[in-house]
This record gives sequence, structure tokens and C-alpha cells, in this order.
Amino acid sequence: MSKSLFADSAVYEITKFTTLDYSDHLACILWFAKCNMSCSYCYNAPIVRGKGQISNNQIFDFLRSRIGKLNAVVLSGGECTLYPRIVELCEEIKELGFKIKIDTNGLKPDVISELVDFSLVDFISLDYKAPPHKFFEITKNTLHEKFYKTLDMLIDKNFTFEVRTTVHSELLTPEDINAIITDLKNRKYKGIYYLQNFHQVKDTLGGINIPSRPIEKELLLKNLAIEIRN
Ligand code: SF4
Repeated sequence: MSKSLFADSAVYEITKFTTLDYSDHLACILWFAKCNMSCSYCYNAPIVRGKGQISNNQIFDFLRSRIGKLNAVVLSGGECTLYPRIVELCEEIKELGFKIKIDTNGLKPDVISELVDFSLVDFISLDYKAPPHKFFEITKNTLHEKFYKTLDMLIDKNFTFEVRTTVHSELLTPEDINAIITDLKNRKYKGIYYLQNFHQVKDTLGGINIPSRPIEKELLLKNLAIEIRN
């Protein structure tokens, strides 16, 4: 690894072990600082507002110490695809023999496409935040067409990925979720669509309160496989 290439730092913290974040894998999580969205329900405010504070040398010292103990690295955040050297970082992780899962909001289709084309990612969790008419309200970002580019690209490449949505009932109605289901169906998404209830924590980006009701699965369309994660 070239020292100049990895002199900077984008990772806010490391979760050293998880069996929950990448199904059937023993993984660690690298939490990338910064995000190009500002979701009102985001519970990673310190990470989104923070700065990278773990050097790449520290990251790779840690990863080398986990060879044979872990089999995967999850890149989460924040938004890991904002890191300008994400391709080189994934190459180095792959050289150590780890699989890579990426959690992303999908606004960097070119970066994600490059990672897929060069086999530098094994699985992607793609957040489908909202239908277009709610996209800005929930994410404070207007680039929903970038998200659709990523979604269509992963479907076209037949890549292994999942689509998921965090639901706060005051922000997303059953009609909004049904609009997403219809869109996924029209785009020929074949996987399971995962829904997760917003979890109340003290420090969200938008300071929102606990929702009045959980996901009402009985009101959702039945033409796509749906699982509620919590
Ligand atoms: S919930 Fe939104 S703001 Fe928070 S890390 Fe994910 S995309 Fe960024």
C-alpha cells in the first residue's frame, strides 16, 4: 500500500465485530464520516457531521489482525461512496481476502458501477429513501435521478443486492410505500424489499419524535416479497 495514497482518513469509527449487518458473515464495520443526504430520522448524526479520525494505517493494521477471524468488511456511514479513494481502499481490503458489503444511498452510480465492474464489492444494501415527490422532504437532496440510475444499473447487471427503506409513519405513508413497491416491480427488481421501522434515539439529524404507529403491512401491496426487519 502506498503511504501517500492512504495518508488521509475518512473513517469515523470501527465496529470490530458484527454478525448482524452482513447476513451469514462475520464482519467488522467501517463507519465513513460525511453524507450527501440529511435525513431527518438519521440516527448517525455524530458520524454524518463528524470527520474521519481513524487513519488508513490503523484500519489496515486492524484488518490484518483479523485475517482468519473475520470474513467480511462492511462499509457504512455516513456515505462511503463519497470517499474519493474508495476504489483503492476496496482493492486493498480485497487483497487481504475479505468480502465487502456496502451500505449506500445510491447517489454515486458511477462509483458503485466501478466497484461492481471490478468485483470490488460482494453485496450492496441500497436505501430507497422515498418516492420522488417525498425525496427532498426526507433526504434534503434533489438528486433522486442518481438513485434511480444506481437501482437500474444493479438490476441490469444482475448484481446481488437488497433494497430497503426506513419508515417513519409521519414521513412515509402506506401509499408512499406502495408507490415504491410499484416502481420496484416496474423496474423488474427481483429481490426482497426490506422495510425497517424508525427507531427513536435522542440525537437524530431532524430531531423528530417517535412515530404514532409502526409499518402497517396489511395496507401494502402484495405483488413483491416484503420483509419487515424490526
Ligand atoms: S440516514 Fe440519511 S443522512 Fe443518515 S447516513 Fe443514511 S443517507 Fe446519510
